[in-house]
Amino acid sequence: MQQDDILVFRLGATCDLADVEEQSIYVGKVQGFANFGMFVQLNERIKGLVHKSNMKMEHKEKDTILVKVRQIRPNGNIDLEEVQIQVYQVQNVDRKSTTVPIADLVNRVGKTVAIEGEVAQIKQTSGPTIFTIIDESGTQNVAAFVEAGVRAYPEVELNDLVKVVGEVMKRNNQLQIEADAIATLEGDDATTVRVRIEKSLDARSEPENIPLLVRSDVMERLRPEMKKIAKIVRRAVFTAQPIIIRHHADADGICSAVAIEQAVVALIRESGGDFDADYYLFKRAPSKAPFYEIEDITRDLDFSLKDHVRFGQKMPLVVLTDNGSTEEDEPSYKIASVYDIPFVVIDHHHPDATIDKYLLAHVNPYHVGGDFGITAGMLGTEIARLINPGVEPLIRHLPAVAGVGDRSEAPERALYLALVNDQYSEDMCKNIALALDYEQFWLRFNDGREIVKDILNISGKPDRHAKLVALLVEGANTMIEDQMSACMPHVVPRDLSNGAKLFLIDVEIHAHKFTFPPPGKTSGEVHDRLCKANPGAPVVTIGIGPDFAVLRSRWVLMNIPKMVRELHIEIPGGGISGGGHLVVGSIKFVEGMRETVLEALINKIGGAQVQK
Ligand code: MN
Repeated sequence: MQQDDILVFRLGATCDLADVEEQSIYVGKVQGFANFGMFVQLNERIKGLVHKSNMKMEHKEKDTILVKVRQIRPNGNIDLEEVQIQVYQVQNVDRKSTTVPIADLVNRVGKTVAIEGEVAQIKQTSGPTIFTIIDESGTQNVAAFVEAGVRAYPEVELNDLVKVVGEVMKRNNQLQIEADAIATLEGDDATTVRVRIEKSLDARSEPENIPLLVRSDVMERLRPEMKKIAKIVRRAVFTAQPIIIRHHADADGICSAVAIEQAVVALIRESGGDFDADYYLFKRAPSKAPFYEIEDITRDLDFSLKDHVRFGQKMPLVVLTDNGSTEEDEPSYKIASVYDIPFVVIDHHHPDATIDKYLLAHVNPYHVGGDFGITAGMLGTEIARLINPGVEPLIRHLPAVAGVGDRSEAPERALYLALVNDQYSEDMCKNIALALDYEQFWLRFNDGREIVKDILNISGKPDRHAKLVALLVEGANTMIEDQMSACMPHVVPRDLSNGAKLFLIDVEIHAHKFTFPPPGKTSGEVHDRLCKANPGAPVVTIGIGPDFAVLRSRWVLMNIPKMVRELHIEIPGGGISGGGHLVVGSIKFVEGMRETVLEALINKIGGAQVQK
């Protein structure tokens, strides 16, 4: 071999660890000395150690010397050896490890690459530390190991911008980078990457412009706000921000939340991350009350803060659906705002403007001249399609189920039913809605993610769906019949001055307690029977408890939120609160004022306009 065949490399200024090769010889510069050897820089950012046993002669700082790379250790440290060659050729090394977009890593398995992005999560396992990195194209887990259970790169923090160099591996069918080096980017480097990620995240989060499933003027007017929510949710997914969806625990609320759940879970899977990311980055939870109670925010906050501390997760985005739009939610928003938790609301309850200052976005048909007939399940499904159009085949029947579940009388109900009529008749939709209500009663505070998928026929097991729904409907109807046979004989009728028929049922003493159907649904069932028994008549039913009353109306245009506000002022010491829709709702009071409050309430109902 000719001596002038020996190649010596000079590392370019922008090269990083991925450009350094073991056994190659490089031009280096002595940086400093330790008692075990000397440090040699291969360029401004990469240096290695020549152990004193591998030094050939004395040097001083800034001397140019030749070094051979003996090995690159897993932690990124480079072991060098001084070499002395008289005749050689120098070849410049240009940066070959230009950063790779995360979405392209699938084509680089087995290769050493560099990625740049933001640290979205830092999770310490009993083995390596797992850093979740996001860039403009996706999410990637990076494993870094110093010692079992010991935090690697303790200087790297959540939300830092970093450059990671490491090998792309496949573990359990998941891509993972085993880090050789993680460096925090500072100053201009950080700004450049942040701006780049920000810009393309913004574009990537923008929902596609797809038409609604049905023709609806009201929902068309809501489209800009729906797109706004879809964009916020997509962005949360792309930045590995956990999402909590809270919903009213009835068929409508469940349909809305499940539609969004399907869209979000699929999007999390598509954009990378752990195989179980859809479990720790997404949570669906029913709210017992028809609003976001302090109990709910307290639980959500408690879990989020613990996840933040234990697993290095970001604080969540909270999506409220079929609740969230009234002043009853305000105490919870106030608590959440202490922790800067962002909220979006998808609701069809009559909204109070005072809560909008706590929300990033709020879709509500009342904002655009619509009403509760456009149910949360319809809105949630349309927003889910904007979040992730790919899930449409799974969820397109949910608005029909929601519409019949919430007894919508809007024209959209018939349109959504017609949309899926080849697969789901109106009766089937009613059965599914009833099965959801019944199952949620037994689930209590649990979301029952997989059971609910079977009930809604989105788990790909139609036989199981059919058997389960049939069984649940049978169970629900048996219990409803029991309840009705106990309470119907105790219904007290009254005629109101506006010509409406009023029916009172004391659900506290004339109905089974702590069982299905609960007081609200019991009153609804009673109301349905009375409407049938009194065709052509305007009907109001009040289910009375010790300190609450549940209201249902047909053709009597009472405004429940307004009546509650007035009674609160007119009856001092009544302890009155409540809300709901214009014609379905509830009112709370103190037990000792029950008769006074009820008489005043009935008086107001008697003054309400009647319209067929
Ligand atoms: Mn609803």
